[in-house]
Amino acid sequence: MGSQTSFPSTVVVIGADYVDPIYAQLAKVAQKKIQEDPDLSRFLFQQGVTFACDGHPSRFTKIWKTTLETAKTLSGPENIVEQLTRDQVYQHIHGESSQSVPTSELKGGSRWNQAYCNLSAAFIDAKECIQIYYDRCMKVPSISFRCGSAVDHITVVGSQSQGVVLENGTNITADMVIVAAGAWSNKLVYLGNRVVPVGHEVAWVKVTEEEARRWKDMSISTNLSTGLNMFPPYRGEIKILRRSPGYKNTVVVAHPEDPTKQISISWPRTIVSNPTDIIPADAEAAMRADLREIMPDLADRPFDRSRICWISTTPTGDFLITPHPSIAGIHLATGGSAHAWKFMPIIGDLVVDSMEGSLSPELVDKWAFHKDSTAKDESSPRMDGDPEELKDIVRHRL
Ligand SMILES: Cc1cc2nc3c(=O)[nH]c(=O)nc-3n(C[C@H](O)[C@H](O)[C@H](O)COP(=O)(O)OP(=O)(O)OC[C@H]3O[C@@H](n4cnc5c(N)ncnc54)[C@H](O)[C@@H]3O)c2cc1C
Repeated sequence: MGSQTSFPSTVVVIGADYVDPIYAQLAKVAQKKIQEDPDLSRFLFQQGVTFACDGHPSRFTKIWKTTLETAKTLSGPENIVEQLTRDQVYQHIHGESSQSVPTSELKGGSRWNQAYCNLSAAFIDAKECIQIYYDRCMKVPSISFRCGSAVDHITVVGSQSQGVVLENGTNITADMVIVAAGAWSNKLVYLGNRVVPVGHEVAWVKVTEEEARRWKDMSISTNLSTGLNMFPPYRGEIKILRRSPGYKNTVVVAHPEDPTKQISISWPRTIVSNPTDIIPADAEAAMRADLREIMPDLADRPFDRSRICWISTTPTGDFLITPHPSIAGIHLATGGSAHAWKFMPIIGDLVVDSMEGSLSPELVDKWAFHKDSTAKDESSPRMDGDPEELKDIVRHRL
């Protein structure tokens, strides 16, 4: 990474609409820090987040009702704008005089039937903020980055880590290795099913200047029943993603803690190794079905680009921030479960607290390796079903 990077911007949601009171409190603190940071806040856009659903009896409608009540309590009723009908949901984006697409024109009926907008939520330019943090780190003499060669493996003697070996063969000794490699963590330490890498489909659509003006004040819009998540126009494009069951990419690798054995893991397949990959056909079709109803002008527009983006998921959606269960000198800081970005201003301190043994008991318990709880926070539910094998269905850009 560095100022020479040429990745396009990407935006993520910042909000505290968690049903789980612990995450709600942490998210509130993190959001305030971003708002009060003169550098980060330049890239924060408080345009609200709308949660819609089809209103039919299902776990998604149930979650929608629960999150609405939670949002009213946490953010205050003055920040909640309810949209009780299909037309109101549509008009919230397209203006009061607009007319929603007739249901007869939609295969499978309408899905954007009721919604609420939480005006306190925001979106943020993730790339710019990471750059700001990187630049700050570069000014701290004790911080140095080694770019260009990833960690190949962690060296372990007995049950004590000694440091890491990079892919280019460089040996780095360290008293403590923090595994914060997101969906790539499973190759560095054995995590079994405690953390599972899952890929999700994301696409970007270019908008005209007139469209950017027309939709500039829209909120981030998420449909819990279909899984679609769509951002307002930002730098000439709209980001769309889907909370589908996701994809896996099964590979056989050496067991990180016993190289004489092999294990199968899901491992991120990205455009770095497979530059022509584009999202599977069913993912594109599902996104377009949503667009046809809620953003009809974009329903048939070519995607500028699409990606499978990888997250590190845990069964409960809780992060994994804890010492390695059996190897001294390794600390785990992974399991972001698709919702960790918003904690960026505070998560580093919490990782340090965890390493120093000063993390609050409730967070020690929440982020522990061995957990009894199977309760899942449903603030950002995935669609039902198991992840599909990506290599069987991935398509290629011609
Ligand atoms: C499509 C999508 C949308 C999301 N939207 C939101 C949102 O709106 N709000 C929100 O709060 N969260 C969101 N998230 C989740 C959020 O992005 C993650 O929870 C967060 O990025 C996790 O941070 P991390 O540092 O643990 O892992 P990552 O961000 O995945 O970072 C891991 C880093 O480790 C590096 N790495 C991997 N292997 C090695 C190695 N061997 N050696 C050296 N470096 C290595 C990788 O290159 C990468 O830079 C979203 C995630 C996705 C995929």
